[in-house]
Amino acid sequence: MTLTVTSLASGSSGNALLVRSGDTALLVDCGLPLRTIGRALTRADVNPAQLRAILLTHEHGDHTLSAGPMARRYGIPVVANRPTLAALAQDLEGALVQELATGAAVTIAGFGVCSFPVPHDAAEPVGYTISAGRWCVGVATDLGHWNDTIVEGLTPADLVVIEANHDQEKLWRAPYVEAVKHRIYSPTGHLDNVAAGRLLARLGSDGRRRSAWLAHLSQEANSPQIAEQVVRGVLALAGVRYLGVAALPRRAPLHWSSDMHGEQLSLFD
Ligand SMILES: [Zn+2]
Ligand SMILES: [Zn+2]
Repeated sequence: MTLTVTSLASGSSGNALLVRSGDTALLVDCGLPLRTIGRALTRADVNPAQLRAILLTHEHGDHTLSAGPMARRYGIPVVANRPTLAALAQDLEGALVQELATGAAVTIAGFGVCSFPVPHDAAEPVGYTISAGRWCVGVATDLGHWNDTIVEGLTPADLVVIEANHDQEKLWRAPYVEAVKHRIYSPTGHLDNVAAGRLLARLGSDGRRRSAWLAHLSQEANSPQIAEQVVRGVLALAGVRYLGVAALPRRAPLHWSSDMHGEQLSLFD
């Protein structure tokens, strides 16, 4: 069974991750305008009718913009915990919803889905792991800091999608008002590159081979080059091998396939 993951968009201007296995697919977050996400799905060769659920991490608009319209138009259930659904009650009016309590596990169209709590300034934000057969993708974007629960949550993942929002020095020089900088920096804000690297180093300390995508990069206070360089530096210092790192583009798609993962791994042997 092949698991395929495509990042459709990542960052404060919109987030959507497509997870596929066989003919079925899920979206994690739906934070693009309806037409944009429609085009991105077409480019990824997916018909919206193949989507069996839209999983939401939290209610912020960059993750939920078109969740309601997509769900209503195509009859796709929106899956989230009760506080997130309550925060989006108006947007989701008339849409199918399925409650998934934080920490619970469910099977959706053959995918094993589990959620775990993350610290962020939303009603009850979560990360997810999604499994198909022996393969698993783990997602944790929008988290102010990391802890053992998040490490445990992400441990089964072959592909880890983790926030590397900002470079701390660049953040303080960025053209944001002070209150925004403090919000981003706070323990319920966004994860910086070094913290993302340390989380990956902790995950990688079990010696398991994984791929990592750095997500939700700040346009003003980060760049793909800086994020990758810092995270790779932290991993090298920690002596972690076997962890391939790539920063996600803001809008261009990036693909991962469990088939490719197997080939990449053979290079390490
Ligand atoms: Zn966000
Ligand atoms: Zn957020």
